Amino acid sequence: MQQLVVLGATGSIGLNTLDVVERYPERYQVHALAANQSVAKMLELIATHNPRVVVMGDADAAEQVVAGLPPEATTEVRWGDAATVAIAEDPVVDVVMAAIVGFAGLRPTLAAAEAGKRLLLANKEALVSAGSVFMQGVRRGGAVLLPIDSEHNAMFQCVPSDHQARPQMASVEKIVLTASGGPFRGKTRDELVDVTPEQACDHPNWSMGPKISVDSATLVNKGLELAEACWLFSSTPEDIDVVIHPQSIVHSMIRYTDGSVLAQLGNPDMRTPIAYGLAWPERISAGVQPLDLVAAGRLDFWAPDLDAFPCLRLAQEAIALPGGMCVLNAANEIAVASFLSRDIRFIDIDRVIEAALAGVQLTEPSTLEEVESLDTKARQCAAETVANIISKPSKEG
Ligand code: NAD
Ligand code: MG
Repeated sequence: MQQLVVLGATGSIGLNTLDVVERYPERYQVHALAANQSVAKMLELIATHNPRVVVMGDADAAEQVVAGLPPEATTEVRWGDAATVAIAEDPVVDVVMAAIVGFAGLRPTLAAAEAGKRLLLANKEALVSAGSVFMQGVRRGGAVLLPIDSEHNAMFQCVPSDHQARPQMASVEKIVLTASGGPFRGKTRDELVDVTPEQACDHPNWSMGPKISVDSATLVNKGLELAEACWLFSSTPEDIDVVIHPQSIVHSMIRYTDGSVLAQLGNPDMRTPIAYGLAWPERISAGVQPLDLVAAGRLDFWAPDLDAFPCLRLAQEAIALPGGMCVLNAANEIAVASFLSRDIRFIDIDRVIEAALAGVQLTEPSTLEEVESLDTKARQCAAETVANIISKPSKEG
């Protein structure tokens, strides 16, 4: 019986994980769940999965969970970052699903890596921000790092088995990272001026949390994924082509030197990469509809439009800068929150990122504390840019 922790249990990835896990009560026991503020959802999860521990974001949310528990419940309720780290590194735990959204997930995700867990990584922002610090933690702890991001899971399924060793990757000529293009694919920059958070979150193929939905709409998600692929597969941005594929059926491809191209295909359902990560190297059923290529009819591919979606270009540039992706990620988190609260427009998001990359003194962080310090500086810079945009709204697009 494997003991499982789900960080970000009440979110889109967390719920999909528990949906898969529920099918295998003889294989997985839910040891602990962590979430921020979603009290009602957490009470439902406690009723279904009876975890030994749950951790909420603050004392208030934890008190509300305690108040909602039935008298016979045995789940222990804790709160705060230290408690989240403690469940991630608990020696009784075998598997950690890292599905907190954003930089907030870094400490517990890194703790799971350093404690040598089977680490199912959905929280790409943790890896992208901390980069080498994160990968060192994985190596030091002897963790088994399994990518859950659908594209990276596809790559993982198609690369040579010992891909961490550079010589093995020598037979790989290109990684082809596919992108749905999000809800605004095909639009010009001018057509993006007045788009709303509701439109940005209405993804054509995937149902996801609000932050990654906006990231998909700006294509910054593909920039984060470019960096993620570089870390996971010892690659450089030059080794990776980004291709728009609106059907989200080919989740990514690996082109080998002999001309072979291996791809992983499937319906856009996160339970496939989640089940793969849970069971690897075995495969288990995930409740996913079988792929019907005849019904899909066609698979299209084209190059991304970097003029309409400059966030991808900014990420391509930031990857080459010391600490660049940490700054880009932090500025993006501030910008996306400001867009979702209607303080700035969609097309201001890349401006906030660009200003942070220009305004923050860039250095390569070599410790967790340095990563956190750079993240804080980037957030401050981004918040100033947002305040400027709010005080002097620009009329043009
Ligand atoms: P979501 O917004 O649906 O859920 C986020 C979860 O994190 C919630 O349970 C929330 O309570 C928790 N959380 C937020 N802040 C927290 C904090 N400070 N402390 C503890 N818990 C906190 O997000 P999601 O769509 O499930 O995405 C989660 C992660 O997975 C993101 O990093 C995203 O990029 C990645 N991802 C998601 C998908 C997808 O299909 N949703 C696909 C690929 C990668
Ligand atoms: Mg993805």
